[in-house]
Amino acid sequence: MSERPLNGRRALVTGASRGIGRAIALALAEAGADVVVSARSVAPLEELAAHIGRMGRKSLALPCDVADPRQVAELASAVMDAWGGVDVLVNNAGVAGSHKFLNHPDELWHQMLAVNLTGVYYVTKAFLPPMVAQKWGRIITIASIAGKTGARYIAAYSASKHGVLGLTRSLAMELVEHHITVNAICPGYVDTPMTDTNIANISARTGMSPEEVRHTLARMSPQGRLITPEEVAALTVYLAREEARGITGQAINVDGGTVQW
Ligand code: NAP
Repeated sequence: MSERPLNGRRALVTGASRGIGRAIALALAEAGADVVVSARSVAPLEELAAHIGRMGRKSLALPCDVADPRQVAELASAVMDAWGGVDVLVNNAGVAGSHKFLNHPDELWHQMLAVNLTGVYYVTKAFLPPMVAQKWGRIITIASIAGKTGARYIAAYSASKHGVLGLTRSLAMELVEHHITVNAICPGYVDTPMTDTNIANISARTGMSPEEVRHTLARMSPQGRLITPEEVAALTVYLAREEARGITGQAINVDGGTVQW
């Protein structure tokens, strides 16, 4: 296997300012890709792009709110002008929130759907034309095991992640003829700022200490631990490789065995 299997590939990672997205951007660069890093916060993106530059790869830091179609169009046109498009699109940007369904705030519902589902739709649509033109592409979306199972208090988040799996599977079929694969990765709890916020919220609601909550979340996995962002990043790199061309329309769990379908 080549040491830099993604040499010459251009990638875009949304939600790259921290957590899983940051780890994916670094892993893609390590594998040889040039990487556009995007999110809403500018400073961490610029730091990350500089870091990737020091690794000897090209990088652009381009802020964008994926829920805003105008900003997504501007992002796509900036990338088109600079690099002519990307070969690998990683839809990672996402938000989490929870609430009892009784008195569920409509705003929370709309926010989850706008970022986690419609955001993936906007970004994928905007970056697809050059992939179709070159007859090669990889679209990888970071979904969740909440896209395959339901749980209390996460109706909106779970609905958004179930939706993104439907989008992934249908698009995979439609893009077969263009040699573009479309897959989703479904992590269990990952050790990121999103999970830290989750832990703080549960702790505030239940009176459990943050350490207790962290252990409770870890014990939900048969492996008794949180997944690391680097584990999700490694699978992303694999799916972007030439050798992964036979894998499409899949939703692959990285969850320590919690969900077995
Ligand atoms: P995180 O630490 O909160 O990072 C989320 C990233 O998304 C940040 O870079 C954030 O940057 C960006 N983002 C949020 N809203 C955005 C928007 N409207 N437009 C553009 N970027 C936006 O979360 P994470 O844990 O790394 O999660 C990454 C992905 O994995 C998400 O899709 C999440 O649902 C999924 N996931 C996470 C877990 C977990 O346990 N952590 C489990 C399964 C799936 P800005 O705030 O700067 O925009």
